[in-house]
Amino acid sequence: MNVAIIGTGYVGLVTGACLASLGHRVVCVDVRQDVVDTVNRGEAPFFEAGLPELIKAQLAAGRFAATTDLASAVTGADITCIAVGTPSTAHGIDLSYVTSAAALVGDALRSHLRRHVVVVKSTVIPGSTDGAVRDALFAHAGPAAAARVGLCANPEFLREGSAVSDFLTPDRIVIGESDEEAGSLVASLYESFTCPIVRTSIRNAELIKYTSNSLLALLVSFSNEIASLCEAIPGADADTVMDGVHLDRRLTMVHDGLAVRPEILSFLRGGSGFGGSCLPKDVTALRAFARTLGVATPMLDATVDVNNSRPGQIVDLVERAVGGLNGRTIAVLGVAFKAGTDDLRESAALKVIEQLRARGAGEVRAYDPAVSPNRAGQVEAILTRTPMEAVVNADAVVIATAWPEFRELDWGALAQAMRAAIVVDGRNALSGVSLPPVVRYIKVGTAANTPLAALPTSPSRSPN
Ligand code: NAD
Repeated sequence: MNVAIIGTGYVGLVTGACLASLGHRVVCVDVRQDVVDTVNRGEAPFFEAGLPELIKAQLAAGRFAATTDLASAVTGADITCIAVGTPSTAHGIDLSYVTSAAALVGDALRSHLRRHVVVVKSTVIPGSTDGAVRDALFAHAGPAAAARVGLCANPEFLREGSAVSDFLTPDRIVIGESDEEAGSLVASLYESFTCPIVRTSIRNAELIKYTSNSLLALLVSFSNEIASLCEAIPGADADTVMDGVHLDRRLTMVHDGLAVRPEILSFLRGGSGFGGSCLPKDVTALRAFARTLGVATPMLDATVDVNNSRPGQIVDLVERAVGGLNGRTIAVLGVAFKAGTDDLRESAALKVIEQLRARGAGEVRAYDPAVSPNRAGQVEAILTRTPMEAVVNADAVVIATAWPEFRELDWGALAQAMRAAIVVDGRNALSGVSLPPVVRYIKVGTAANTPLAALPTSPSRSPN
């Protein structure tokens, strides 16, 4: 199949390179010449494991290229996927990148007489694909094009940090289709996959994406609410509590006779909150969309409220440990929204840094294995090249992203270089690591180090 992909970002580029590796001929389009040049050199414009190798291999095989020439990419293709951004606005999402791309695709298809399917891969609120996107597409392609141009929504579920393997071994493919023929053409892109393929209406497909991300966000906020509660109960430990909860047989899968811990359990853990380009934006958009329908969303509202308060609660732990932040030097390890990516969008680490500064920290230095110091303008901290540069003479370290390499650091040497060897682990990323005794280690979701005090009991009933 010949495929054009509009938008060469995390989703568009991974989709393009992976579809090429399945044998399709793919052209990725972007408005940014620098992105196109980078990709055509065999590099990825962002950090994603395995992606540069895949791009190089597909360029060499002659099945893959990038261009700024949208019209020629579209007219040379059977399927065009729109994978441009849908950023948050105060009222939901900004659909303008998607509708602009659809209009340009429509222009290209106006005099194109072959059958073509336009696929919305971007995450869009229900009604967008067969509403604003359809309108933009056919206003430009002309009404006669409706007979030969199909429209589908095929949301993407890849996760940054494991995007290539997620794409190539998906748990599901969801195709919302304007008509069966269009859906079948899109399904044929994925014919080598063995996962379930959900063929449904366009609106259901759009909703499946939002509902999936909202469920994950809800689990994170639920776990963080329990973690905050544990932080107020001397002797409690949220990790132990959640370990006990995870053993519920309904949360366990059995594979080859052995109990397997499903990955969803990693969302049932206390931490600093969810971030990234998807979860915060998608929950916000779904809430806003529900409001336009007059539907209340108290669960989604609470999910966002808990998440917004979590970075401040992590900073509370730091503030209590160092005895006031005024003039203190704090090191933050991890800036990306999660390990395995250099994406800073909505990162909880950035919110921790903001709060540290707002509450008077004298100097905040941050280190992230994937975020180079030349991105200093995007972080309100001094970005360092090594963990040691970040922690030297610091009054405390906050672990804000769960990079596995933080477990391997020489914590003895780091502790020695610090003014006070206090480690606040906002992700419980060092759980199980043996730290030198000099380190005062404070996990999220625990007040285990505070003396056991009597807890308030239910107020006794008044005789009346
Ligand atoms: P991104 O910002 O990384 O990439 C978007 C790209 O589109 C940019 O390179 C931009 O220059 C380009 N672009 C914008 N307008 C264009 C146009 N008219 N023609 C050509 N190129 C254009 O975005 P992303 O993270 O890949 O997200 C894309 C969509 O996929 C969003 O709706 C997002 O919610 C969704 N999504 C993202 C992820 C993720 O992990 N990032 C996962 C699933 C779904």
